[in-house]
Amino acid sequence: MSNLRHRFLFSEGNIRGIWLNLESAYEELVSQSRYPKIIQSVLGEACVASSLLAATIKSQGSLTMQLQASGNINLMVMQTLADGSLRGMANWNEGAELSNHRLFGEEGKLVITLDPGEGKKRYQGITELVDDSLLATLENYLTRSEQLPTRLWLANTPGKKAAGLLLQQLPDADQEYWQHLTILADTISTEELLDLTAEQTLTRLFHQESLELFAAEKLRFNCSCSNQKVVDMILAMGQAEAEVVLAEKSKFEVKCEFCSRAYIFDQVDLESIFKTGKLAELDDNIH
Ligand SMILES: [Zn+2]
Repeated sequence: MSNLRHRFLFSEGNIRGIWLNLESAYEELVSQSRYPKIIQSVLGEACVASSLLAATIKSQGSLTMQLQASGNINLMVMQTLADGSLRGMANWNEGAELSNHRLFGEEGKLVITLDPGEGKKRYQGITELVDDSLLATLENYLTRSEQLPTRLWLANTPGKKAAGLLLQQLPDADQEYWQHLTILADTISTEELLDLTAEQTLTRLFHQESLELFAAEKLRFNCSCSNQKVVDMILAMGQAEAEVVLAEKSKFEVKCEFCSRAYIFDQVDLESIFKTGKLAELDDNIH
């Protein structure tokens, strides 16, 4: 039952839902850095929320949540692609006494970027942080933006399991029925959200309602970094600056913040990059 996402649709009232549960995908994501438990927990909320929201959008592209803050966390990025792969990272104040208070601090914002892919226009929404809470911030954003009214339920066991539920009104949703369903969903406990399957959760909450549960989609941790993306970054940096870094350290090393993969280039690589725009050995693979 781990790393699964199910969409479901109520037969009446124009209301839909999404259930998801992450285990190894979440474990792998938080194992990329020595995150304290409290940061693991925020990353758990973020990867569930971004995978829930990504599923509400018909898109071949990506959904990225970027949280810029001034508290114990100063930056968090979470990205979900249409194929169910997700990646994310957080920068936190390592010297600080970490607690639930001042996690995001006084100033900050959440930027949600939807990139539909296929060259279509990107959509970006920006919202202030609310109550030092990602859930409160997202619900506030979803209510105030002109999107469809949406409720989220999130749970996690830091570093191990993360799960969530989303209910969303479709156009012309029945408001009384919406009230009824959200009251039922509010009775879910953290344990139930983490431990029950999609079928069990929906039976537990909505056994008297008529709904259709769709086939599971697999979610996984996967990073989209590549040699060529690092090469493009080095090209953007320019030869002079790249040579300075190389002179200092004898090799040029870039570490991906999402998956910890190290990309290491030497003088020969850099020469090839600035001459041809790509790595020499890649030539052999492209024919
Ligand atoms: Zn990576």
